[in-house]
Amino acid sequence: MRRQSGSTARLATLLVGGLAAGALAACAARGEPAPAGRADDVPGVVTTGPLEVVATFTVLADVVAVVGGDDVRVGSVTGPGMNVHGYEPTPDDLRRAAEADLVVANGLGLETWLHDLIDPLGVPVVVVGDAVDPLPIHGSASETGGLAHNPHAWMSPRAGQAYVRAVADALSSVDPANADGYAARAAALTGELAELERELVDTVAALPQDRRVLVTCEGAFSYLARDVGLREAYLWPVNAERQGTPRQAARVIDTVRDARVPAVFCEWTVPATAQQQVARETGARFAGELYVDSLTGPDGPVPTYLDLLRYDAALIADGLTGEGDA
Ligand SMILES: [Zn+2]
Repeated sequence: MRRQSGSTARLATLLVGGLAAGALAACAARGEPAPAGRADDVPGVVTTGPLEVVATFTVLADVVAVVGGDDVRVGSVTGPGMNVHGYEPTPDDLRRAAEADLVVANGLGLETWLHDLIDPLGVPVVVVGDAVDPLPIHGSASETGGLAHNPHAWMSPRAGQAYVRAVADALSSVDPANADGYAARAAALTGELAELERELVDTVAALPQDRRVLVTCEGAFSYLARDVGLREAYLWPVNAERQGTPRQAARVIDTVRDARVPAVFCEWTVPATAQQQVARETGARFAGELYVDSLTGPDGPVPTYLDLLRYDAALIADGLTGEGDA
């Protein structure tokens, strides 16, 4: 916690699994001192280091990093490419969360493991999904895992603006001295999200009516579809262990044929096999992998939340306009 920032080892532990934590983690693994100390870092001396925040997945960690700026250090419980839905917190995760000043979670059923992480600890938690109008999730109980809501609100730049404001409010309530900075950086990020939303609405509006259909593997685009004027179809409602069944594929094949959908998509963290079969059987083009449940590492195509939304918007526009056709 920031009240006593003498321990660089603890900071390194906190950040393992975090987005920008590669260097720190590597140092810690080699037993070298991590370069996290401040000039006035004396063990046992109370000082005001950055606020220490743990987010449950990489998208939220990036929002916290952008809104928090230099006033915050953030790590993510689940790292790039990991399945956030089916995760089980480790003893290390519990320790990192216990030592944090704030835990930031999505809620809406995304982290079925959230209570395992926070209940024993009593740390401050903000659930940013509480800031949006939730959409229901559709599918059999075995497909949805009994979820009431669709958890993927961040995939809509409009709902994303509510996330950003919720993060800024939470940081300000834990650290009121830096509230102005949090508010200013949140305003800049919500401005970029609003601009992206306008671009997407315009792109979709320019498509012929019958091309405004987004076909994906996971039903993660309900908020985006609602907010930019797309219809959606998907193989399964939420990523789980068993998915891509013949019945799910047959349902989407019918939809794609009936609507003459030009292109279908899958997502980075799940196998595309079933959707490639849909493409083969319908003549639709398999237009590539979208990013949803995780950012990539710094060298991948979507190291930030804005990158993720922009990458997906471009891939969807190319697929549905036919501009990506070879
Ligand atoms: Zn998901």
